[in-house]
Order: sequence, then C-alpha cells, then structure tokens
Amino acid sequence: PLILVGAATCGRAAGALSLLEEVQTELQKLQLEANVLEVGCMGHCYAEPVMVIYNEGFPTICYGYVKEGVGARIIRDYLTEGDPGIEFALAAIEPNDFFPTFQDFPRGVYENKIVMEQCGFIDPRDIDHYIATGGYSALVKALETTPEETIETVKASGLRGRGGAGFPTGVKWETCRSSAGDQKYVICNADEGDPGAFMDRTILESNPHLLIEGLAIAARATGAEKGYVYIRAEYPLAVERVALAVQTAKEKGLLGESILGSDFNFNIELFQGSGAFVCGEETALIASMEGQPGIPRHRPPFPAISGLWGQPTVINNVKSLSYVPHIINRGAEWFRSNGTEKSPGTAIFALAGKVVNTGLAEVPMSTTLRELIFDVGSGIANGKNFKAVQIGGPSGGCLPEEAMDTPIDFDSLTKAGAMMGSGGMVVLDEDDCMVEIARFFLDFTQKESCGKCTFCRLGTKHMLDILERITKGQGKPEDIDMLMELASKVKEGSLCNLGKTAPNPVLSTLKYFRAEYEAHINEGR
Ligand code: SF4
Repeated sequence: PLILVGAATCGRAAGALSLLEEVQTELQKLQLEANVLEVGCMGHCYAEPVMVIYNEGFPTICYGYVKEGVGARIIRDYLTEGDPGIEFALAAIEPNDFFPTFQDFPRGVYENKIVMEQCGFIDPRDIDHYIATGGYSALVKALETTPEETIETVKASGLRGRGGAGFPTGVKWETCRSSAGDQKYVICNADEGDPGAFMDRTILESNPHLLIEGLAIAARATGAEKGYVYIRAEYPLAVERVALAVQTAKEKGLLGESILGSDFNFNIELFQGSGAFVCGEETALIASMEGQPGIPRHRPPFPAISGLWGQPTVINNVKSLSYVPHIINRGAEWFRSNGTEKSPGTAIFALAGKVVNTGLAEVPMSTTLRELIFDVGSGIANGKNFKAVQIGGPSGGCLPEEAMDTPIDFDSLTKAGAMMGSGGMVVLDEDDCMVEIARFFLDFTQKESCGKCTFCRLGTKHMLDILERITKGQGKPEDIDMLMELASKVKEGSLCNLGKTAPNPVLSTLKYFRAEYEAHINEGR
C-alpha cells in the first residue's frame, strides 16, 4: 500500500506530523509493509490532517479530519479487514489511477487545477516524483527551441502576472531580453504578505520544482544566468523545501553549467526577506537585495530595463512562474482555452474567514464569486448569513451580496470595486462590522508604509484615526466626507501601489456599507 499524509504548514498545524508517527507505529504493530509519504497540501485545508490510502485492488480513499487515534483505526480497519472507514472519506476513487486527482472530489467539478494539480500528491522533497509526472520536460523543450520562440509562446498564451498587477508576463520577458546588460537576472517574488493569503506558500511547500522549472525557462528566454527566489523568512518550511529543490536540481544537472548538455548556464540562490510587506513591490524588493532599505523608487526605468545592480531584471510571482512549464508543454492555445479572452487561465484563491471549507481553490477565470464561496467553499460557517467578501488583500475591496455574480477576472473585479490582488479572499458574515474590517486593513497598510510619501505616511494615519474614532462610537458627522477626501489625496499622492491602493477597503465599504458608518456616527456605537 501507499499512504500519503499532507504535511504542509496547514497540515502540520492540525497535527499531520503526529499522524505520520501514528501511521508508522500502527504499521509496525500490524507488521504491515507500506510506503508512507509526506506530501504537501491539496487545498482541502479545512479537513486537515488529510491522508490518502492507495491499496492495489481496493478503492483509493482520501480521508479528512484524521485526528489523533483516527489514523491508526483507518489503517487497521482498511488494510487488515477491508473496511474503508467511509465516514472519514473526503473522496473515494476507483483503483484506476496510481494517484487520485482533484476531479475525484465533490467540488472538483468547479475546479480546474493547473498549478496545483500535483500539490498533495507528490513528495515535494523528491525530485524523481516531479520528473515522473512530466517535470522538467518543459525545460528540455525550451532548450530545444529558441528563446524568442519561448517568449512568443508565453506572449500568445496571454499569461498575466498573478502577483496582483496583471501585467503580461511575455512582454516583461521580451523587454528584458531586448535590453542591454552585462548580466541579466530573473527573480521569483515569493514575498507573500497579504493577510489571509497562503497560495504561494502552499506551492513552495508542495511542489517547489514547478517554480524552479518556470524560473529556469524564464532565464533561458531572457538571457539570464542568475536567478533568485526572494522568499519570506517567516515561511521556514517553504525555505527548506525550495533550498532542497535547488540542491537536488543541481545534482541532476538541471541547474548549473551547460544544463542538459546545452549552452545554457543558470544558477538559483535564495534570498530571505525580512518581513516588510512593501518589499513585495518590485523596486523595493531590488533595493533590499542590494542591501539598501526596502523603499520603492520611481519608475521608469522599469526593472526589466534597469533592475538588480542596474541590470535588466525580470521579477515574476510564484504563481506566474508555475504556469510557465504547463504553457510550454501544452501550448498557448490550450492555456487560452481556460478563462476569458483578457484573463486566460485559472485563478488560485486562498479561501479564509467565515467560509465552511477554508483552503485553496484553483478555478477557471470567469467563475463567479458565488460559485467560489458557495459551491467550492460550501457557504458560510455556523449557519450564518453571508455579508461580504474582502478580495485582493489590503489593496483590495469588500464586495456585498449583490456583487456575488461578478466573474473572477482582472477587469471585472476591478470594475466591481475590488481587485484580483494575489489571491487572498476573506469571507465575512452577518456578525462582522464593515467599518472594523476597513480599520483592520488600513491599520495593516499604515504600519507597512515605508514612509517615503507624505500622503501614504500621514494621510493613512489620519484616516486610521478617524476610523478608530468611528468604531469607538465617537465619530463626527463630517468624518465620512473627510475620509473620502483623504482617500483621494492618498491615492493621488502615493508613489507605489501600497499607498495608491491603501484606501480601497475604506472606499469599497463606504460604497456598499455606508449605512454602517452612519449608524456608528449617529447612534454613537
Ligand atoms: Fe512608501 Fe507608501 Fe510611498 Fe509606497 S506609497 S513609496 S509605501 S510611502
């Protein structure tokens, strides 16, 4: 038998490491031989710890909520008596495939996993697992074609950056390739910092080679020989997994000199960020790598022309790079067959807050918010009513019930008053105060402001003071107008997106939930 235990950070927090021990102990007790693998997260974080048992000739079963004592019981009952313990099953799969796939889960009809397809089904520490599922074949393909052809494929796919800005990835690569420089760099931005967001962490922990392959293809296309993964130091498991993946890729000759006998030389180093949210901004990220304070600078020049150490530099988000091997292998047309014309592909969201099934979901662009929250996420927890959803992290906005049929894509969400952002989604119920939510997010951006621009530094502080006054029942009738005026000034007077988008949670809650502000002010509560 083969037993998989999901042991990414979410699984570990729910007791996955104890489950692993329990499984091994029970197998020894029963004197059964089985291959027990520690895998990553398949997205069902609500049901952690998660365990899959594959036993030839029997249905493969994915179990959820495998708390202390349950794992041993399942092993005993299923492997010795053939009782599958169906009450703990999230999905049961006929024994046709070696691994179950996401389509086998009830919510699989809404999902379309590209980037997350192998997350939770392969051992992220074993490069051979990645290779056995087709890994590094896209790099081989990229080495057999010209860099220009690779760029054309990525451009034709319409892939847009998943870090939040939605800029076309292929155009960025083309700009870097055509820019003059002694040395070019590619950087993976793995500095995920939005409250409630854990998409990048899951990919880094569950399938790090996908990102490394994407980064190597980006390097080949742009002409870079040096790459970095700029990763949050607060993600120790992700750091460990990526470092190991880089080392094993080197040992296999997939990184280093003359990769796979070609003229392509490429190495990757990890750079651990120190927890400043603003360092997710490209120019601040570069400054921090150069040993300077992480403060954004004016653009142009854009990093693709003058970036790290003044050299042409491509910076792509974890998810953006993770699509690349799939696009190279399956083609631009295939990628475009998912999603919408202007937002092709899928969207990966971290569902958090008051939703029943928290976790990660990868759905085609154009899926509606209602489908994502009520079908994939199974609706609102504890029988409460839905009130709003905060999308796009602190730069995003809060959308109410009447916006639930908005399709998820870059343009529709922006039009509705929110934004894709990097994929954070916090669901709110009838008990949540929307003024308090706006205060929470503004407090975050205010603290993370680097202080360079007066309006971002002081305007957000002034807005925060007003929100604190209102939530304490000490608001004044003129406060709403003052918030609107300050919001527009902060947007206009800020250099980078942190400041330009900081007022969004306030503006969207004022647009859709103004009555709550008025009730606080008028009723003094
Ligand atoms: Fe710094 Fe804010 Fe200005 Fe961005 S907008 S550079 S975070 S002060």
